Amino acid sequence: MVDRLTADRPTIVTADAGGATSTIEAEVLIGTDGSGGICKRAIPQTERRDFFVEYPFAWFGILCEAPPSAPELIYAHSERGFALISQRNDHIQRMYFQCDPDQDPSRWSDEQIWDELQRRIDGPDGLQLQQGPIFDKTVLRFLSYVCEPMRYGNVFLAGDAGHTVPPTGAKGLNLALADVRVLSEALISWASAGSRELLDRYSATALERVWRSQNFSYWMTSFHRRPDSGAFEHKRQLGELDAVVSSRHGSAYLAEAYTGWPATTREPGDR
Ligand SMILES: Cc1cc2nc3c(=O)[nH]c(=O)nc-3n(C[C@H](O)[C@H](O)[C@H](O)COP(=O)(O)OP(=O)(O)OC[C@H]3O[C@@H](n4cnc5c(N)ncnc54)[C@H](O)[C@@H]3O)c2cc1C
Repeated sequence: MVDRLTADRPTIVTADAGGATSTIEAEVLIGTDGSGGICKRAIPQTERRDFFVEYPFAWFGILCEAPPSAPELIYAHSERGFALISQRNDHIQRMYFQCDPDQDPSRWSDEQIWDELQRRIDGPDGLQLQQGPIFDKTVLRFLSYVCEPMRYGNVFLAGDAGHTVPPTGAKGLNLALADVRVLSEALISWASAGSRELLDRYSATALERVWRSQNFSYWMTSFHRRPDSGAFEHKRQLGELDAVVSSRHGSAYLAEAYTGWPATTREPGDR
C-alpha cells in the first residue's frame, strides 16, 4: 500500500509471503510499478485525470525458433488485417498479426498461425516467411492511456505506471527510459544542489514526450483494419501510406518519430 503521498515522507507498506508487514519511508517515492500498478491508483481521483482510448483489436504474438525472414522489420497492411514481422536475433523471431481481443491463443495450431502470417504478408515480392517451432503465443490488447499529472505530492510516476501505448510504435520501453532520464536529472539536482525546480517541472517535461509518443503510436495504429471500416477506409489507408512513403518529409517524420526525439531541455510552454 502507498500512503501519505503529500507528506514530507510518503510510505509504502509491504507484506511478505507469510503476511508480515513492514513500512518503508522515503523523501520521494517513484512509482515504476507498470500499467496495473498501485501507485497511480493511490493518487486521489479528484487530483488526477485518466485519459484513454481502447481499440477493437489486439495483436496475436508469437516467438519462434527460426532465422530472420528479412533484414528489417516488416509492417504489413492487408485485406485480412495488419501483421508485423520483427527480428530478435539470428535464431529467435517475434511476429504478430492483428486479431480479435478475445481470441484464445491456445486454440491456434502452429500450422494455422504460419498460414495466417504468410497470407498477411503475401505480395508481389514473393517473400516467404522462415518458419520454425513456436514456443510462445500471446494476445496483446491495445490501450492508449495517460495519467495526468505524473506527480502528486512526493510521489512521481514513471514508465507504464503513468502511461501506456499500443505496441505499434514500439514506444513503451523507450518512454519509460525517457521518463527515468528526466527524473534522474531532477533528483540529482535536488540531492546535490537542494533545488526542487526540476522535480516541480518533471510532470510537464515528461508529458511533452508522452503525448508526442501517444500521437505517433495512435497514428501507427490507425493503419489497422477496424471491424466497422469498409472499402473506402481501406483505400484511404493505402493513400495515406503512399503519401508517407513517397514524400521525403513524410518519411523523415516517420523515421524521426520511430527512432525517438532527442532529450529536451526546453521548458514547458517554450516554442
Ligand atoms: C509483448 C510485448 C512487446 C513489447 N515490445 C516493445 C517494444 O518493442 N518496444 C518498446 O519500447 N516497448 C515494448 N513493450 C512495452 C514495454 O515492455 C513496457 O512499456 C515496459 O516494460 C514498461 O516498463 P516499466 O518498467 O514502466 O513497467 P514494467 O516492465 O511493467 O515493470 C513494472 C514492474 O513492477 C512490478 N510491480 C508491479 N506492481 C508491484 C507491486 N505492488 N509490488 C512490487 N512490484 C510490483 C512488476 O512485477 C514489474 O516487474 C512491449 C510490451 C509487451 C507486453
